[in-house]
Amino acid sequence: MNETRQIRPVNILLLLLGALLVINIFNSLRGANDVTYYELRQLFAQEKVQEFYIRDSHLTAKLTDDTTVDCELHNFELFYNDMHELVEQQAAAGIIKDYNYWANHDTNWLEILLPCAVLLVGMFFLFGFMNRMGGAQNDRMAKFGEARAQDGGKSQKTFKDVAGADEEKEELREIVEFLRDPEKYLELGAHIPKGVLLVGPPGTGKTLLAKAVAGEAGVRFLSISGSDFVEMYVGVGASRVRDLFAQAKKDGPAIVFIDEIDAVGRKRGSGLGGGHDEREQTLNQLLVEMDGFDSNEGVVVMAATNRVDILDPALLRPGRFDRQIYVGLPDIKGRREILTIHARKKPLAEDVDLDEVARSTAGFTGADLENLLNEAALLAGRHDRKVITMDDVRQSVIKVIAGPEKRSRVVPERERKLTAYHEAGHAIVTRALTEHEPVHQITIVPRGQAGGMTIYLPEEDRSYYSKKYMEEQLVTLLGGRVAEALMLGDISTGASNDLQRATEIARRMVGTYGMSEKIGAVAFDSGSDEVFIGKSMAQTRPYSEKTAAEMDEEIRRIIDEAYSRCQTILEQYRPQLITTAEYLLQHETMSGAELEKIFEQAETEKE
Ligand code: ADP
Ligand code: MG
Ligand code: ZN
Repeated sequence: MNETRQIRPVNILLLLLGALLVINIFNSLRGANDVTYYELRQLFAQEKVQEFYIRDSHLTAKLTDDTTVDCELHNFELFYNDMHELVEQQAAAGIIKDYNYWANHDTNWLEILLPCAVLLVGMFFLFGFMNRMGGAQNDRMAKFGEARAQDGGKSQKTFKDVAGADEEKEELREIVEFLRDPEKYLELGAHIPKGVLLVGPPGTGKTLLAKAVAGEAGVRFLSISGSDFVEMYVGVGASRVRDLFAQAKKDGPAIVFIDEIDAVGRKRGSGLGGGHDEREQTLNQLLVEMDGFDSNEGVVVMAATNRVDILDPALLRPGRFDRQIYVGLPDIKGRREILTIHARKKPLAEDVDLDEVARSTAGFTGADLENLLNEAALLAGRHDRKVITMDDVRQSVIKVIAGPEKRSRVVPERERKLTAYHEAGHAIVTRALTEHEPVHQITIVPRGQAGGMTIYLPEEDRSYYSKKYMEEQLVTLLGGRVAEALMLGDISTGASNDLQRATEIARRMVGTYGMSEKIGAVAFDSGSDEVFIGKSMAQTRPYSEKTAAEMDEEIRRIIDEAYSRCQTILEQYRPQLITTAEYLLQHETMSGAELEKIFEQAETEKE
């Protein structure tokens, strides 16, 4: 499985080049069917064109009388500007049944001839594989479809191919059910999200999940990557989006998947040139398309990104990508399952302990783990062994971590312990508070900048925050630092972000929301971030130095009070704090329910 994946892109490339060559030879042989641009326009005007596609400025059209003509477009843009409206009209009227602007650079003969020799060799190998792999042929053919970017046909992946990620799958199951039987849900008047945004670091299986949703539901998978749009001719990006949605709506349920949506979906007006560039046109078209269909057309749009923060807010509005699913790094259990999946077709020696591998690969993504096993297989091959040994695996772990493509960090034991107590501190204080959202999950798997994370479950959309709630937020934020001081006798830089946020909240309580009794119910600073920062930078405070000093004092008092409150709570729950940290060190991830169990157990022990 993995070996074939390694060479698959090469094969596709070779086949495409081969096809290109065949077409070119064909065309030169059948020169009689070449038409001039003028004649081509006439054919369009006379509604004689049934299908056409363009490749390397070369247009091939199938006519209503079943003949085929070719035309060399010396200027693609001219053709596009000239004809696109007409083409769209005729497509809408059903005269043109299929078309595809496959815009590409001009063909250089050398580029085709050179790989041609390689092509033969490639084909030779490919067929060798096909014979050996037998039943896997269909799968491979489907993948060829995907590479065309436009219509991927039915996806072969299912949720079984995605290991771990149980919560992500659970959230997506609703979409699967809907796509399987849209009528049922529509009759019930159910509101199905139009757009689902998968957010997470590269290699965590976002694309895989999207394919699996299509595979589970048995619907077509139409995909395109945001970065494909970037190099296109003006107007083509927008038209591709239009085509994509037209195809999706044409026959029945489908998933439209936009990979790397940040490439087109970046905030408008933030580009270098500003103004209306190609990317903005594409983005606008995407917004138009998403608004322009009902969920009763059975189309669900999925997109993936690792930079949700740079997306244009318009994309995230209700009726567009209003559902976000975070696809995180796998925890120890998830890594174990991913290893199992990718080890399936690999002969492992008896000494290979995948549990240990899972334990030693904190911070690895699914793609990293797949890569790890592949490296191990290569290593075994290099030593002419028939099976992969634990030693191969261990060496590969190091290679993947230290290798240039991987900056994932192995977390030293001391740092893990620190993170475990820090996060446990956040979680335990939260459990003792009343207003704060409950703990959803705690993890010490590194994520982006953070060494660990405590995730809270938002209960409802809050439109305002009470003073009590904000005070509890402060206590929660300080939980990490206090736990470090309390349990390890030393404090670390790991809490710096917590402290920044706590200070910011305290500052707002005093300056913006008038929550300090000493200062009174006066709003000195505007609530909005930019203005706030801008003002303090410009040193134009609308209040006296004396007030400023008083405010600073109040901020300090609020933080200090939260700190001692946090200390009291953590001292009271010290045993639970230790149990939680130990649990984290062992399992890396802990659910809110498991945290609850620890508290229940402590209760019964007391009795
Ligand atoms: P992303 O789109 O998030 O960058 P991909 O879906 O492209 O990640 O994942 C790359 C490869 O890594 C997949 O093809 C798959 O083989 C492997 N992989 C990633 N996550 C998982 C997972 N949860 N289970 C199994 N394989 C995974
Ligand atoms: Mg991807
Ligand atoms: Zn923290």
